[in-house]
Amino acid sequence: MTARTHDAFALASLISVAAFFPPASLNLTTLIVSVIGAHIGGLIPDMDQAGNRLWDMFPSGNSLGRIFRRIFYKHRTISHSLIGVFIFYKFLEFVVTRLINTSFIDPKLLIAGIIIGYLSHLLADSFTEEGLPLLFPLRIAFGIPPIKKIRIKTGQWFENLVIYPAIWIYLFSLIQNKKEVLLEILKMVKS
Ligand SMILES: [Zn+2]
Repeated sequence: MTARTHDAFALASLISVAAFFPPASLNLTTLIVSVIGAHIGGLIPDMDQAGNRLWDMFPSGNSLGRIFRRIFYKHRTISHSLIGVFIFYKFLEFVVTRLINTSFIDPKLLIAGIIIGYLSHLLADSFTEEGLPLLFPLRIAFGIPPIKKIRIKTGQWFENLVIYPAIWIYLFSLIQNKKEVLLEILKMVKS
């Protein structure tokens, strides 16, 4: 999947989780950092690609990316696995609670936002031909549907003309159907 599709999918996933499992309380800073967190979380699994946009944020980012890529030697390994999710979650738990001022930002919601973005990335990639090495280091690829041939090819017409617009259509209909819940969440931010 392309970064553009992952962005849209991460946003749609975050709003879906918020609509079905609304937070008990929410302030504006937490809302903003959680949305940015979901966006970044949705790009992190592909940081093993030198061209990843996150590397552009670093000075000489792309040469760093190339080094990083050599370490991970092949795209879609540990970052696209269950053990990768677990390590990343533990890392976030450690870092976020230490770096963030918890009187302004709810660390649980921020971590949830980043993890939702990350998981949405893995779910989206599972629809592609390559599938996911969920049990890495075991080299078994999982995908939806399980037959590789009928899964989609990254960056081609089906992703761009069907999947990408479908995510936005889904998101708009979700917002329409869950208007009350979502407005309640926005009211929490206002108060
Ligand atoms: Zn990926």
